[in-house]
Amino acid sequence: MIISNRMKGLHPYVPGEQPKDRIYIKLNANENPYPPSKKVTEALMDFIQKEPIKMTLYPDPDSNELHAAIADMLNKTGGVLCRANIDGQKVSPAPQDKIPFTVTPDMIYSGNGSDEVLSFVFYAFFDSSKKFVMPEHTYSFYPVYAGYYDIPMDRIPLKADWSLDTETMLNHAKDNKGGIIFANPNAPTGLGLTRDQVRQMLKNANPDEIFIVDEAYVDFGGESCIPLLAEFKNLVIVRTFSKSLCSAGMRLGYIVSNPELVNTVTTVKNSVNHFPIDALAQVAGKAACYDPAYYVDCAKKVAEERDKFYDFLKSKGFFVIKSQTNFLFAKKDGLAGQDIYKKVKEEGLLIRHFNTPGIEDFVRITIGDANQMKALREAFEKIC
Ligand SMILES: *Cc1c(COP(=O)(O)O)cnc(C)c1O
Repeated sequence: MIISNRMKGLHPYVPGEQPKDRIYIKLNANENPYPPSKKVTEALMDFIQKEPIKMTLYPDPDSNELHAAIADMLNKTGGVLCRANIDGQKVSPAPQDKIPFTVTPDMIYSGNGSDEVLSFVFYAFFDSSKKFVMPEHTYSFYPVYAGYYDIPMDRIPLKADWSLDTETMLNHAKDNKGGIIFANPNAPTGLGLTRDQVRQMLKNANPDEIFIVDEAYVDFGGESCIPLLAEFKNLVIVRTFSKSLCSAGMRLGYIVSNPELVNTVTTVKNSVNHFPIDALAQVAGKAACYDPAYYVDCAKKVAEERDKFYDFLKSKGFFVIKSQTNFLFAKKDGLAGQDIYKKVKEEGLLIRHFNTPGIEDFVRITIGDANQMKALREAFEKIC
């Protein structure tokens, strides 16, 4: 046989469609409708135009300047952009988000999108000899890594109100003597646990097993678990530039954790690709982090459009889950999710539908800018 046995365990992720046949308003991949900060484009132009010779050199393998910039942004914003206060260019965290210690660069590991970061995290902390716990409905890449690394999964159904069943998750993790991963806020529901709820979980979890919280969407209104790093040495927080930092095309993701676990993931990286983040991405990421005011503004606008669209869907008779993210998860009696998706597509807009049993009635709607949401409202008016 030409292919390895390992290949049988691969079930690759299916991303939101990126059609080429027609220009659609794209609200299907939770991308940000706003461009990156002008500081980012300027920094990129400067790098290319003023110092093109740098393109001949390998980038900094440890992304030191980027990590310092990420730590700085987290300290200034508290890790939840949409609630941070802006006063001119000065940004400060909302009182409830203030991190009670200083995040330092040695607490950051970054990679080529949080998808790659997650892959290394799975490799570093989960084992093929014991199951890890995750919610039944959560980021659909986790099962893909489980197949890739041959790690058995223990998927825990959500509660009737679509929230995480934290008690059952903990009980199973204990029985499995294994780790836990979930997205907070969760995807594709948009619901989050409070920091106190996660603290309670961590208090009752085995401190010798890994506890991973994926905060891809936290900037739009969740509660970050970064403050819990002071209390729990088994906590790894995964974050991304793709959603709230308007940079899905850049591929930048990172973890925040204690330096020891950061070193562990760095060891995995250095065993696969010493230079996962190219020089341009390092320059862009750094410039973004030093302009938090711009991204705070973007996140506030997205959160505002989200809440308006939530009210609109409710007025149209939809069941909508209250979201802390840049998307809404909604369904309507008598309208199949697949049909909503198709009809909206005929109107020139893409939203996401999952064929997954249990959530096939729903559509997931990424929040765009005011114009995009106006077009989507018009499409929904037509189909309802
Ligand atoms: C989008 C998303 C990611 C992946 O982000 P990238 O940095 O673009 O790879 C990770 N986790 C969750 C829950 C996401 O929704």
